[in-house]
Amino acid sequence: MSDGFATRAIHAGQDADPTTGSVIVPIHATSTYAQDGVGGQRAGYEYSRTGNPTRTALEECLAALEGGRFARAFASGMAATDAVLRATLRPGDHLVIPDDAYGGTFRLVDKVLSGWGVDYTPVPLSDVDAVRAAIRPNTKVVWIETPTNPLLNIADIAALAQVCRDSGVKLVVDNTFASPYLQQPLELGANVVVHSTTKYLGGHSDVVGGAVVTSDEQLAEQVAFLQNSAGAVPGPFDAWLTLRGLKTLAVRMERHSANAERVVAALSGHPKVAKVFYPGLEDHPGHEVAAKQMRHFGGMVSFTHVDGEQAALDVCARTRLFTLAESLGGVESLIEHPGRMTHASTAGSMLQVPAELVRLSVGIEDAADLVDDILTALG
Ligand SMILES: *Cc1c(COP(=O)(O)O)cnc(C)c1O
Repeated sequence: MSDGFATRAIHAGQDADPTTGSVIVPIHATSTYAQDGVGGQRAGYEYSRTGNPTRTALEECLAALEGGRFARAFASGMAATDAVLRATLRPGDHLVIPDDAYGGTFRLVDKVLSGWGVDYTPVPLSDVDAVRAAIRPNTKVVWIETPTNPLLNIADIAALAQVCRDSGVKLVVDNTFASPYLQQPLELGANVVVHSTTKYLGGHSDVVGGAVVTSDEQLAEQVAFLQNSAGAVPGPFDAWLTLRGLKTLAVRMERHSANAERVVAALSGHPKVAKVFYPGLEDHPGHEVAAKQMRHFGGMVSFTHVDGEQAALDVCARTRLFTLAESLGGVESLIEHPGRMTHASTAGSMLQVPAELVRLSVGIEDAADLVDDILTALG
């Protein structure tokens, strides 16, 4: 019998240190490794850009949690994204991206990859037929996020995996918003999973990192080659912090999801709230798909204020526990105004978000305190 998720989070890649018995994987703060004679590596390590035992532990744990054969850790989610795009695309190729892609991913595709002769088509991912129609003979990748940021749109991973298999295209899932505890894209047929481990996987807002997980051996080799060649690797302390965060991922995601449901219940029907965006709501257009492919509906919630942009900004200024900040996925609750903050650069583009939108990253504090805080801020 294979171990369950919470057990893997605590033990995969994390055996006690063979030389000292240290229960916790040490922070191997070293750039290089003594060799027993020329070419005589003791444990497969020669230089820490190429490999570091703390990073290896993190990579083994990440692979185990996503149900993949191979994982590579990066210095940020964007470095991981960049490695996957460069491993899969060549000049003249084409990819499909979400029409509400994470802003940094859109910027990388639109401003960097396009300069290398890679073309892209933004598509609403909840529409499987639209994705199928956007695939061209030179399409190599369909890149998806689900749920999306900040409107929590849902893509049907299994249906899109089928479309991609039919066309010989690789399906890449940015699984940052769900985390592997809530959603397992490889099992649903995706080829690659990408993470910003900065968010739920690290979980404590104290480290920036990224990861790539796949069971495709050839692709894993290319990603590893790029990891070493471009060198956007996490240091051992960053790897250690992320590994420490992973240990509690299962319990944190349970609480994030439960707290988010309490906050959603308080917001729904509130006279100052026009609309709540949360895949757990039965009237959410992606609810059925989300219920099928996710364990719970996660900790991210967005809503629009009935009185427009200034009222939304006022709510962001009035919370006591929800800290006004970008990013997400930490134990502490955050609030932000996407139109002026995380998504300011989308103004005037097809990625533009409503001005009266507020986004919450619901933390794991006491739900009653969070509900009280947000209701007080709404007035
Ligand atoms: C934050 C984020 C990224 C980028 O990750 P960094 O660690 O900030 O580089 C990519 N995708 C999603 C969905 C994110 O939320």
